[in-house]
Amino acid sequence: MTHLLFAAIVFFVILEFAIDQTLSYLNQKAAYGPVPKGAEGIYSEEKRVESIRYLTAKYQLGLASATVSTVLMLAALYFQLFAWLDSFVRDQFSNSILISLAFIAIASLVSSLASLPFGIYGTFVLEERFGFNKTTPKLFILDLIKGTALGAVIGGAILSVILWLYETLDGTFWIAAWAVVAGFSIIMFMFGTSVILPLFNKVKPLEEGALRTEIEKYCSNQGYSLRRLFVMDASKRSTKANAFFSGLGKSKTIVLFDTLIEKLNTQETVAVLAHEVGHYKLKHTLRMFISSNIQTFAIFFLLGQLLGNENLSKALGVDTPSFHISALAFFLLLTPINTILGLINNTLTRRDEHSADIYAAKTYSGAAIKSGLKKISADSLSNLSPHPLYVAFNYSHPPLTVRMNHVDKFAKELR
Ligand SMILES: [Zn+2]
Repeated sequence: MTHLLFAAIVFFVILEFAIDQTLSYLNQKAAYGPVPKGAEGIYSEEKRVESIRYLTAKYQLGLASATVSTVLMLAALYFQLFAWLDSFVRDQFSNSILISLAFIAIASLVSSLASLPFGIYGTFVLEERFGFNKTTPKLFILDLIKGTALGAVIGGAILSVILWLYETLDGTFWIAAWAVVAGFSIIMFMFGTSVILPLFNKVKPLEEGALRTEIEKYCSNQGYSLRRLFVMDASKRSTKANAFFSGLGKSKTIVLFDTLIEKLNTQETVAVLAHEVGHYKLKHTLRMFISSNIQTFAIFFLLGQLLGNENLSKALGVDTPSFHISALAFFLLLTPINTILGLINNTLTRRDEHSADIYAAKTYSGAAIKSGLKKISADSLSNLSPHPLYVAFNYSHPPLTVRMNHVDKFAKELR
């Protein structure tokens, strides 16, 4: 049984790499294909060549990074490095919660360090070469320190509680652990933009002016309270434009990147905001939040059933069963399910994006949402003809032409 589990883990690690890289390869090749209907004129010939170059550079970086992390993972499995790390932390601590925390901290640190060179290259060489990067080395290091500290504090706290529940509760541990994670995700969902976002960005209300007046007019028409409309200084990291919605009820928040306001005209910006209001009005965020909690519930249920099985830790070469080793084996075995969940979730969010676009077209302007989306895409050198399979697995937003055609179809139905 242990050999079979070990073989399954190795197989899944390789399978995930093979699927991801095959899709990326197909996608990169698809960029050379004919310009899809509706995308004519978005790029000049020169820009199109640049966008293919950008995609190719990102593809190669992704391939290099995935190769290194997959080889490291396979080496760790083959040489039983997890068993070695387990006995190392056992020598340092006697408390089982501390042993698990130290194991997880060291393993996460090693994995972050392995991907760090690719992050540095991606920001300062690749994004820089195409004129997107605005991050200074100082900001990069500051982000890294803040992100790591935040992960250690929040992750450490949640993990400690889960580990304590695991020791105390036996059979029902998984429900309590899920409740802790769900409770935390509610807090983050409600207050993430108030608490976490300001640690990384300056977030301020949109100033008075033509744009604010137009937005106020639109929102009062829609009965949407503008109490929490913010502009974020995204331009200190990248030139790319975006906007997002988060929160529930009174905590609902729309954040516009300063780069969006700079690049889009007033109508286009209002249309993008209308798209975000659409996510709220059509209850997309609430639905997604509920569905993600149902998924974690199912995963915790499985975890609760399997964690006590000592074959899990034996598969990784460890004889003394422990939370961290069993959970690691469990999550490695879960990879195929995660891939399928990703496919389902992306399909749902892509559908929601269409509905939010139609909402913007219906309540504000179809022409403005189309030209806004066009500008954002063209400006970030996005791939106009991504491979459909790559889109299915990886795109949370539909490709530009699909979105524009969808808005056009709606406009036709109106006529
Ligand atoms: Zn959206």
